[in-house]
Amino acid sequence: MSGNRNRPRIVIKPDIRLDTSAANSVAGGGGNLVAAPNLDRSTQIKVGEQVIEIDPDNVTVIKELGHGAYGIVELIQHEPSGVKLAVKKIRASNLQDETRLLRDMEVLVKSRGCPTIVEFYGAIFWESDVYLFMEIMDSSLDKFYRLAYAMAAAGTGTSPAVPEAVIGRIAGSVVSALHYLYTLKVIHRDVKPSNILINRTGIVKLCDFGISGYLVNSVAMTNEAGCKPYMAPERLRPRPQGYDIKSDVWSLGLTLFEIATGAFPYPHGNLFEQLKSIFQDPPPKLPANRYSPEFEDFIVRCLEKEYQNRPNYLQLLELPFIKTYADADIADFTRVVLDSAPEQCNSASPSSPGKQPSVATPPTGSPPVPT
Ligand code: ATP
Ligand code: MG
Repeated sequence: MSGNRNRPRIVIKPDIRLDTSAANSVAGGGGNLVAAPNLDRSTQIKVGEQVIEIDPDNVTVIKELGHGAYGIVELIQHEPSGVKLAVKKIRASNLQDETRLLRDMEVLVKSRGCPTIVEFYGAIFWESDVYLFMEIMDSSLDKFYRLAYAMAAAGTGTSPAVPEAVIGRIAGSVVSALHYLYTLKVIHRDVKPSNILINRTGIVKLCDFGISGYLVNSVAMTNEAGCKPYMAPERLRPRPQGYDIKSDVWSLGLTLFEIATGAFPYPHGNLFEQLKSIFQDPPPKLPANRYSPEFEDFIVRCLEKEYQNRPNYLQLLELPFIKTYADADIADFTRVVLDSAPEQCNSASPSSPGKQPSVATPPTGSPPVPT
């Protein structure tokens, strides 16, 4: 990006095969993913139907979308085509197994086509960073639910601030995404509100799957960055058997609980207090009489402390909470909430005039409650 004069070290390109004989093809000769070492002409990625030549010198950073413990995410524009995309930059010093990440990126490519997973376009290793290019969404759930709560507090929102139908639809999307990843033998490992993205049309997609497995010391790092660990008890006290998809079910339960109540259920700021509460206290329960028994039941099942007792994804998909809201139309609610803070909604960004609607509709009243 601006001012960077060096060439990318390695490029990963979904759908484009430039050098099938490359000795260090990370795809192992199969699939449609090729790593082309030291090729400065090969930074091509496919965005929708368009193939673009992407190079840190021909993109402009429009704005920072946020940053986490390991790097930043930016909204960028590819100048020759005008295409906008998101780039996540992770510092290599935060990667404990760069080679394996590279190899396993094939799976990111395979996840293309799943409607509830953020589309991955490709990656480059640039100097000492890895850049992951992906589809741009309007917001993440951590920001989104706070906006909904702010509207409710100001008397312009709904009660509850995030209606159950919206949470049900989010849950259905995330469970299908996790199930899809599971069929690809991928465990997400980092389910939390900031890794679930949403757009103004009410589409919900999961992002950042698998990556935390390659990052250095994720409990310590997330705590250091002031984030709250959404990790299941069995992950916080690791077992020799390792990690299971049921741990992501716990993280999903905590995520939905947070959206439904507007607060993370465990004490934060002090990791020791938090871990003590996770291990010693009964799991969090939704406040009585605010939501349906089906939603309460869903949370109880996800937040079983014994991972063996938690449902798997197919079982979750059969629960009434998911089935009831599978077709709920949450577009109007989402749009009104995101329009309440246009500067936080990427498609309504004032810094992207011309290409997309640049004037966001001001909120005209309470967001409609989906049925
Ligand atoms: P962690 O470091 O633990 O992963 P995080 O998820 O908050 O925490 P990042 O993954 O770096 O950190 O993301 C930072 C923010 O960037 C997110 O909170 C989200 O709001 C935003 N973001 C990430 N990816 C996208 C995307 N594809 N489109 C729009 N916004 C995004
Ligand atoms: Mg993230």
